[in-house]
Amino acid sequence: MHSTHTRPARSPDQEADVQRLSILGSTGSIGAQTLDVVRLFPNRLDVRALTAGSNAELLIAQAREFSPACVVIGDARRRKQVEEALCPLGVRVLTGQEGLCEAAALDETDTVVAALVGFAGLESVLAALRAGKKVALANKETLVVAGRLVTSLLQDDQGMLLPVDSEHSAIFQCLAGEPERSVESLALTASGGPFRTRPAETFGTISKAEALAHPNWSMGAKITIDSATMMNKGLEVVEAHWLFDMPPERIAVLTHPQSIVHSLVVFEDGSVKAQLGLPDMGLPIQYALSYPERWAAPRERLDWSDVMHLHFEPPDRAKFPCLDLAYEALAAGGTAPAVLNAANEQAVALFLEEKIRFTDISDLIGEALGRIPAQADPSLEDLVACDAEARRAVLKHIPSIPV
Ligand code: NDP
Ligand code: MG
Repeated sequence: MHSTHTRPARSPDQEADVQRLSILGSTGSIGAQTLDVVRLFPNRLDVRALTAGSNAELLIAQAREFSPACVVIGDARRRKQVEEALCPLGVRVLTGQEGLCEAAALDETDTVVAALVGFAGLESVLAALRAGKKVALANKETLVVAGRLVTSLLQDDQGMLLPVDSEHSAIFQCLAGEPERSVESLALTASGGPFRTRPAETFGTISKAEALAHPNWSMGAKITIDSATMMNKGLEVVEAHWLFDMPPERIAVLTHPQSIVHSLVVFEDGSVKAQLGLPDMGLPIQYALSYPERWAAPRERLDWSDVMHLHFEPPDRAKFPCLDLAYEALAAGGTAPAVLNAANEQAVALFLEEKIRFTDISDLIGEALGRIPAQADPSLEDLVACDAEARRAVLKHIPSIPV
């Protein structure tokens, strides 16, 4: 039995300071950690909408604890179950992409935490920005696929984008107070994943369980595989390009197995700033919500009495071809990053179903990029079509799956 959440009693002044949240993807790894931040700051944060793909049980438990105005269940077959549990509590139950867009643009919401995984998160981020919301963005695929659309909305409307991805949060923190034009380059750190030291000739036999065992971070399955192939860092290069308006040749990737230095900024006078911390997504999630303030929090600190060796090395680009595929897609522009992303999503899904080998992932993405010509200045409809085409191109290579 779950306890029913009672909102803390707040004075009218406190109520005016409360930030009201729609958490999209609340049942996932980032979503659940966002709710941990809400538990730490009940007087500052209030949950107005929660959403799940198919995990109705967890969504119901979360709604019982946080009393949102509405929830969204992606899988329409689970709607009845969610309605039976939550309608008596006065919670509206919505479904599908339409429901997600409604939760993202809710009048009573100030900030949308975008923590869906993959292309499925794109439309709700666009809806949130169109409604002038502050968006705490974990869903990096949105910027990879539609960076130009998203950034043009930021210029037109009142919306704001704050990074949740730890590397981008680190860069954002390093940039605070600095003149915009003083940045020379960025360096994104990468743990190197579970296969940093594994010989390349054994990559063909990597199992799903081995690829899911990330040394430093506990995350959803898709991003964990992306970290193992280093496509995650490739996607983050594209994400950094759009967030910080930086050309690809000024975004470097640095392997740093300890995941303590979360990224670095090089300034035009030669100074380098970095942001450090233990690998814990709670902090970047919290900073996106507290910005420009910092909120005192009892999380574990780096221990200076420990001997600390910070190791850096260049990434092995031959062993991890996904990294260069991402740079190539970014250079090609237009729909190319959308093809990269969709081919990756489809290939990772097939690897998780144990239908292809680990090394097939980069091969299939490379083939899709080679086969589908990049189209300049795509509309949302073009991107949706391109996403479907790239997925079909990947599936064509699997003879047992009819396309
Ligand atoms: P998870 O797989 O753990 O969670 C994804 C969430 O989205 C779940 O709530 C899931 O619902 C929901 N969802 C998935 N597909 C759909 C769909 N088609 N329609 C509606 N809802 C859907 O992912 P993560 O939390 O790990 O990652 C989320 C995003 O954040 C990704 O873009 C990732 O790259 C990024 N990120 C994650 C980090 C991490 O530490 N996890 C770090 C940095 C970035 P359900 O539970 O019902 O399946
Ligand atoms: Mg990251």
